[in-house]
Amino acid sequence: MQHDFKTDSAYTRRRFLQSLGSAATLSAAGMLVDPKSALAAPSESDLRIAEVKTYIMEDAIFVRVTTDSGVSGWGECDAGSHYVMDAFIHSEHARHVLGKDPFDNQPLYDQMFYRAHDFGPGGALSNSISGIDIAIWDIKARILDVPLYRLLGGLYRQKLPIYGSYGTGRWENLDKKQAVAQAVKFVRDGFRTVKCRMQIREDHLNPVEDRTIEYVDAIQKEIGGDAELFVDINNGYSAARAIQIGRVLQDKYGHRFYEEPCSDQNHIETARVVEALDLGIIAGEKEYTLFQLDEMITYANPDFLNPDVIKAGGITTMRKIAALSQMRQKPIIFHNTRPTISTAATLQLAASAPLVGPFFEYPDADRFVEQIGVVRQYLDVRDGHITVPDSPGLGIDIDEEKVIARSSEVNVSDLS
Ligand SMILES: [Mg+2]
Repeated sequence: MQHDFKTDSAYTRRRFLQSLGSAATLSAAGMLVDPKSALAAPSESDLRIAEVKTYIMEDAIFVRVTTDSGVSGWGECDAGSHYVMDAFIHSEHARHVLGKDPFDNQPLYDQMFYRAHDFGPGGALSNSISGIDIAIWDIKARILDVPLYRLLGGLYRQKLPIYGSYGTGRWENLDKKQAVAQAVKFVRDGFRTVKCRMQIREDHLNPVEDRTIEYVDAIQKEIGGDAELFVDINNGYSAARAIQIGRVLQDKYGHRFYEEPCSDQNHIETARVVEALDLGIIAGEKEYTLFQLDEMITYANPDFLNPDVIKAGGITTMRKIAALSQMRQKPIIFHNTRPTISTAATLQLAASAPLVGPFFEYPDADRFVEQIGVVRQYLDVRDGHITVPDSPGLGIDIDEEKVIARSSEVNVSDLS
């Protein structure tokens, strides 16, 4: 459904507002601005977005947005469906941002979101917007020569705990011994918290051969009290099974957190688990818009929100989610499975969000050595912590030549 700003109710509201004061006064206060006319009006700035480029790599899709002044910013989309992201960006989004001022990031976001709303609102639409939006915020901060967090309200914290995150099912399919070894490796690398993804999922609901307790038992025996462990079920349990397993995790193993025990499509099941257990329930990695997160809080009522900057529409949405989390008193445990642009953007958000959980997610860097190699000076990650850089923008410098060398395809949309 496309937004029609000229509905009867809008006109009624406008007439009502006009009855309260002059249109000029209201317009100056920003109350009567139609997003479409705001976009049509030429910006006072001469700065224009001149090029949008995508780089398709085996393990990532990066986006580079460049202005006519030569300043560029980098963004990233979740790499689940590279070519879907790429097609979305070049066939839909690029035409809405080319020739526009990057400082109009909110109307640009609205254009990208509502013009392709029929294909969304979540999933590929928000995911593909993320890459462009993150790059646009990187540009804004670079032009102003400040770290991005300065544009997001400033710094609450400069050194943030991160947890080591890894999967045991689907792609990785780790056996018990390998699962233990990966957890031990994180602890040896200095991580104080480790998350093991069981990756059961809805299509294999409540498996008869359930590995969760078996794996937890083996990992706990090995890491002992050196680090905290929790599991991510990835939507794989009914509420009844989630409560049964959750009780063992909290009572026998002293766990404090429990991620996505039930389907993200069924908030009522999650709400039952939240009610029944003392564990902190984490949910929301598949909620891609502010509206979806708000609805999830209302019906599932998890203890922690789990949005992802490269899926949920970039910085423009995530800064609003940060406000929502403060308003609804739900700390954010940021979802972050990629080590470069995603981690840099998450770090800026985690540093500047008012209400965050005790840590955020970080992948096994050894799985991404080549991808990390495209960053000129990588982020300061040590002893289970990551430090906010004080350089402009996202705080990392990407070597485009190295990105191109790793890309199977580079696609460009420009003003020509
Ligand atoms: Mg998860």
